[in-house]
Amino acid sequence: MATIIDGTKVAAAVRERAAAAASELAAHGVRPCLAVVLVGDDPASASYVRMKERDCAEVGIESRDHRLVAETTQEELDALIDSLNDDPSVHGILVQMPLPAHLDAESVIARISPCKDVDGFHPESLGSLVRGLPGFRACTPAGVMEMLGAYGIDPSGMNAVVVGRSTIVGKPMALLLLEANATVTVCHSRTKDLPAVCRGADLLVAAIGRPKMIDASYVKPGAVVVDVGINRTDDGLVGDVDFESVEPIASAITPVPGGVGPMTRAMLVANTVAAASAR
Ligand code: NDP
Repeated sequence: MATIIDGTKVAAAVRERAAAAASELAAHGVRPCLAVVLVGDDPASASYVRMKERDCAEVGIESRDHRLVAETTQEELDALIDSLNDDPSVHGILVQMPLPAHLDAESVIARISPCKDVDGFHPESLGSLVRGLPGFRACTPAGVMEMLGAYGIDPSGMNAVVVGRSTIVGKPMALLLLEANATVTVCHSRTKDLPAVCRGADLLVAAIGRPKMIDASYVKPGAVVVDVGINRTDDGLVGDVDFESVEPIASAITPVPGGVGPMTRAMLVANTVAAASAR
């Protein structure tokens, strides 16, 4: 029986710490503020934004809503980002992805001031991670590290396998694990004999976007398994890991829902309070 790594509980502790730091800032007359930019009317994005704004309210962060129509031009969006960069009362800027196809997400991310890049997606933030310098870390992988720490799981010396190489999850996850002294392998859709590579993992992180792909045949008995996947299926929300088959052989595992998901949102508020403190 694996230890179930309770992301909801760890996220609550992260929010509590952020709330304490926010109230200390308030005593100095500073209210952390997150500007939230949502372009278009994608219902899933709107629901993510609502949850993030609720988290902000709980922690004592002001969230400022900027809802733009789907037809917003690149120039209009750029002008909004510039004005948020210049506004000293805004500490963090979140542009909810995905953007409508006619907008250039990469250029929008690069336009955000790195000191307000609370999502940790800016090239400078990622460069800081590569160089081991201070900077905002992408919320999802940072949340995974926080969870491991909360459960006393030290990646040092472990063989860690990360399945997925996206810029928002897989790559920064691999770098954070490397920084924590794991021996890291990054896998992707061209990896040969993926199950065999995964079976070499003491710590396996699945960030693939394929419902329940990682079953027991990918997992070494006693491994720690982190499921980043969020997949909407006819059976509801499921991860990339087949929890039922993997849980009996893993030493610890994150569930979906209630695992990495709540951590991502908690790290966003933590980063926003840190951005306000830094200023
Ligand atoms: P991407 O689609 O950007 O990346 C998926 C990665 O998985 C790619 O590197 C891809 O390889 C790899 N991959 C796809 N199919 C296979 C396969 N059959 N075998 C091996 N590797 C494969 O996804 P994201 O990184 O954005 O997200 C991954 C998952 O995490 C999704 O389910 C997403 O919803 C979830 N997510 C959850 C978050 C949370 O808060 N819990 C936050 C962000 C994402 P290649 O590069 O070769 O194409």
